[in-house]
Amino acid sequence: MMVTRFAPSPNGPLHLGHAYSAIVAHDLAREAGGRFLLRVEDIDGTRSKPELSDAFRADLAWLGLEWEEVPAQSTRITSYAKAASRLKAQGLLYPCVCTRTEIAAAITTMGPEGPIYPGTCKRCPPDNTQGAAWRLDVSAALKRTGELTWIDALAGEQIARADQLGDVVLLRKEAPASYHLAVTLDDAADGVTLVTRGRDLFAATHIHRLLQELLNIPVPRWHHHPLLVDGSGTKLAKRRGSPALADRRKAGEDGSSLAANLRRNLFPSGISLQQS
Ligand code: GLU
Repeated sequence: MMVTRFAPSPNGPLHLGHAYSAIVAHDLAREAGGRFLLRVEDIDGTRSKPELSDAFRADLAWLGLEWEEVPAQSTRITSYAKAASRLKAQGLLYPCVCTRTEIAAAITTMGPEGPIYPGTCKRCPPDNTQGAAWRLDVSAALKRTGELTWIDALAGEQIARADQLGDVVLLRKEAPASYHLAVTLDDAADGVTLVTRGRDLFAATHIHRLLQELLNIPVPRWHHHPLLVDGSGTKLAKRRGSPALADRRKAGEDGSSLAANLRRNLFPSGISLQQS
């Protein structure tokens, strides 16, 4: 059975881009007679605002969507810790005590998701690992798994180029797990068969595919949809003035009509789907 999900983080209100993403995931599941899940990704305790989760539910209902809600990330911390211990036991994680400033000063390579960690703490392990972040040793991991592939419904078969992102953090200093580890485990635990999300997370999937192999968990398919962008081609974001769905809802706009328009790729003036 097809299972899709919408997995918003409660660190800002949902905007049109989220509405589009939720509708894509919802409709793909419904067309296949499958299930559409909502999972609140509230692992970042410093930025998460619990009251936003209720607003998310109200927004989705206003758009006319129906969903099954699965447990939020904050209830799943033990599973992240267990998986990280397995990876540590395989010698695939190393502690990193570099500060952001130290990393910024040492960066030499840019990847698709930003600067690549230069491997300082891999070459020169810290004496004291208290408060360290733990990074995945991607080259050691790839040696173990060999070449991996994954399938995007729109872009076709991909070779998992986890090396493009460098040694990503899996256990963060200030949060129980990183996005990469948590989302990979959660999608497997929730039985998601088609991971539907924006194209901005395409590169992250290379790492997720590698983690699935290392942790021996099921491999779904992916559907990375194009992003909604503003007139300057920039991804919509609340901080750049994209109106919150909650504001539209409270102003009395009809959510079902908005959803119907998004389904037909009819966007408010100045907003369009990014061409790849
Ligand atoms: N929680 C992530 C976000 O709000 C999305 C994660 C995902 O869809 O994989 O950007």
